[in-house]
Amino acid sequence: MSNQCRQGDLRPETPEFHRSLCALKEIDFELAYLAMLTREGLKPLSRWEKDLAEGDLKLFQRTGLITKQVRRIVKTGREIVETIFSRTPAYIELYEHAFSNTPIDKSAGTQQFEGFLFGYPPCCVNQYIRKPYAPNNLTQQQQKILFHWACRDCKITASLLPAYKRIYDSLDRC
Ligand SMILES: [Zn+2]
Repeated sequence: MSNQCRQGDLRPETPEFHRSLCALKEIDFELAYLAMLTREGLKPLSRWEKDLAEGDLKLFQRTGLITKQVRRIVKTGREIVETIFSRTPAYIELYEHAFSNTPIDKSAGTQQFEGFLFGYPPCCVNQYIRKPYAPNNLTQQQQKILFHWACRDCKITASLLPAYKRIYDSLDRC
């Protein structure tokens, strides 16, 4: 069964991994997709802003990811909990150190640091800060599988796209 889950040069999967990934996909396709992108190392760290149960966090751990829940404060003063996950403890620590118990902010500096943590090309982040959603040359389908808005004629995004697509398509196997 595990052989069926293999595709291209993605890391080998055990049946337990596959079950956990499929369970994440049942919660939300995007959650499983983010987990895979992070597990494959295309994203150093990812963040989930919707609620997750304790048991859901175990699913990440079974896919080889470290998780942490971080408290943030929204404009109204209300507290929210973000879930972050990564293969690397250092990235979890960087995020916690910068953002734990802090208000959500969209400053240029924050967007640049988040872009670094989330594996976004710096050119795209800087373009987005200057002018969000500026026209690029991607098809709707290409832009849809990304988590950053690509800058026009982006060389880095062009290299990332096939890798993202392979992971996106691999989720059909659940
Ligand atoms: Zn770019």
